[in-house]
Amino acid sequence: MSANIPYKLLKSECRSYTGSFNSEDVLTGVSIDSRTVKKGELFVPIIGERFDGHEFAETAVTSGAKALFWQEGRPLPETVEKINVPIFYVQDTLVAMQQLSKRYLNEVNPSVVAVTGSIGKTTTKDMVAHVLEGSLHVHKTKGNYNNHIGMPLTLLQMPKDTEVLVVELGMNHAGEISFLSQHVCPDLSVITNIGESHMEQLGSREGIAKAKLEILDGMTHEGTLIVDGDEPLLDKDYFVQKLTCSVRSAQADLFSKNIASTHDGVSFQVSNDDECYHLAMIGEHHVKNALYTIAVANHFHIDRQTVRQRLKNMAKTAMRMERLKCPNTSALLINDAYNASPTSMKAAIESIIQLEGYKRKIVVLGDMYELGDEEKSLHKSVAEVIRTPITDVVTVGEKALWIAQALTEQFDDKLKVKHFSSKEIAEPFIRENLDEQTVVLFKASRGLKFEEIIEELCSR
Ligand code: ATP
Ligand code: MG
Repeated sequence: MSANIPYKLLKSECRSYTGSFNSEDVLTGVSIDSRTVKKGELFVPIIGERFDGHEFAETAVTSGAKALFWQEGRPLPETVEKINVPIFYVQDTLVAMQQLSKRYLNEVNPSVVAVTGSIGKTTTKDMVAHVLEGSLHVHKTKGNYNNHIGMPLTLLQMPKDTEVLVVELGMNHAGEISFLSQHVCPDLSVITNIGESHMEQLGSREGIAKAKLEILDGMTHEGTLIVDGDEPLLDKDYFVQKLTCSVRSAQADLFSKNIASTHDGVSFQVSNDDECYHLAMIGEHHVKNALYTIAVANHFHIDRQTVRQRLKNMAKTAMRMERLKCPNTSALLINDAYNASPTSMKAAIESIIQLEGYKRKIVVLGDMYELGDEEKSLHKSVAEVIRTPITDVVTVGEKALWIAQALTEQFDDKLKVKHFSSKEIAEPFIRENLDEQTVVLFKASRGLKFEEIIEELCSR
């Protein structure tokens, strides 16, 4: 299903326009990329650091764009002028796209669920959307489109009959979540956790918590804030209703108990309900994400049986604890290479520790970026959770070396620690150690592209 954006909304966004159109006619979406623009969409040329989208307007129209935004003052090439599509002149194409998305959101008027937090946003957003989709018309952020450009694009792809919009709010700096929240005005907000990412920009965990709590800026008194009940920094009163979720404390509004790792995921019970929930993902942290999902589903009065069923059949998001059988060696490879922070790295290692049925457990850990002044101690802190039954630790990169050093200091003669300066050198070593009794976890910051080691291991 595509969006339904009437020309009249574009008209109210611009100062002048050329070309003819019927105000009631609709555009089926908005694109800022001439390579992927679809037939019937509005093309919005964005002026970036390296490229100016206006240069690709002609290509966009050839590919089927039905209208253009054009930034005033930008010369209009003759080739574009000759093309017979309406051109809407705006002061700033990015701002105009943001405002258009706001108008369109008001027109569609769905309930809005916003997800922020240091880690687990995409996983939780996808889980919430998947569970609600069983009962309602849901539209969600695609992949990681979670910033001041991705969010408007998400809204402008929303079908007209959307009942619930589930959006991910991302940030690098203070103020960003506030902007995004005021843009969508969430009815329900989730703060998955407070970690250490972006310490560089925000100074401390308190600073990070404050930035995530900017999500309140777009909410009204009728809203509900769902938070990590295991995080003291979020244990406050707010002007909205607060709902806590915990994997440790039965004091929380919603809590899990009897968490058990199974060969194909994790099972658990919730609060006073005796029935088991099951997830095809491994790791206690996903139980937390499931609790947030259950809290949201309760808000929409989805019955428990449906929630249980939907959680059970949710497919994994790629590169987040994705399980792969290595074709030539039958070893189990766990691809968690999408990104890493100390919290998520420790959670991933903990899941490998809990996993049953493997004699050899290897964790391949790479550098974690954007950790600020504390980066050395934060890397070293990962060593604290490493213990038997982990048998081998392979570190890759100059920052991950700190993990290896900390492990050598805490000396455990059952643990083999090996350091490599690059993934290319590490790969043959990992390969030598694979067999069907072995499980290997791959975890590092996005920049290291650890999935390439897995591709290499599986290809030969
Ligand atoms: P980004 O800031 O890159 O958008 P994100 O917040 O969307 O990240 P995800 O992509 O959902 O986070 O997950 C990132 C990594 O953290 C994955 O490896 C995932 O398995 C792990 N993870 C997910 N949820 C949690 C959690 N609640 N606690 C710890 N780790 C988690
Ligand atoms: Mg994300």
